[in-house]
Amino acid sequence: MLVDSHVNLHGEQYEDDLEEVVARARAAGVGTMLNICCKVSEFTPVLVIAERFENMYASVGTHPHEAHENPDIKSSELITLSQHPKVIGIGETGLDFHYNYSGRDDQYANFQAHIDAARETGLPLIIHSRNADVEMADLLETEMAKGEFPALLHCYTGGEELARRAADLGLYFSLSGILTFKKADELRAIAKQLPEDRLMIETDCPYLAPMPYRGRRNEPAYVSRVAEDLAQLKGWSIEDTHNRTTDAFFRLFSKAKRPIA
Ligand SMILES: [Zn+2]
Repeated sequence: MLVDSHVNLHGEQYEDDLEEVVARARAAGVGTMLNICCKVSEFTPVLVIAERFENMYASVGTHPHEAHENPDIKSSELITLSQHPKVIGIGETGLDFHYNYSGRDDQYANFQAHIDAARETGLPLIIHSRNADVEMADLLETEMAKGEFPALLHCYTGGEELARRAADLGLYFSLSGILTFKKADELRAIAKQLPEDRLMIETDCPYLAPMPYRGRRNEPAYVSRVAEDLAQLKGWSIEDTHNRTTDAFFRLFSKAKRPIA
């Protein structure tokens, strides 16, 4: 069984054929999916998808791109929404100094509320980090010292130093279809070093379709392509890769129920 640890299925891209998309994922062996909330204002549509399908879960949070939407977000609000049985993680949140769609102050304030909510609930923090390696590593070290919380760096594209410092703090990592891109040699070299028991895979659909689907709409069934390239990179069998990444997902997201194969 495979898990797609990061999907965005509530968007208009799947309005017409969501049933078929989910059916293709099941046929490809994707037993569990985590539908990610990128704005608290969109939490309801995200949750509706999780409630509609078995073994589909949801997160609650506001992406750094959208931090300007509610910079004064309270951890208590996230904690309340996270009590729904289908909500298994806090985020996506983090820092993005590449696009800077939100100001740095708003991003930090937003991120802090999510960290506090993860620490309080024990639900894993789903972190997005782009062009913010040093700031992210510094903040994670400071916050973990105040009190630990489970966390994941999703769609990992950071450098070697962030990978090492985050791994030392016990974080999990998720790799996306970027791993299959021709020009991703640097990422593949880093991925080789990531902790073997704290590694999962995702599509981040509808974006970032893996090769040979690059440029098209992505969907959860394609997560098997990420598994293939990860297997090759790590020297694992396909079955071993599926088992390891699935085990890692359920170890971190312990509120999710593992389907009986
Ligand atoms: Zn992201």
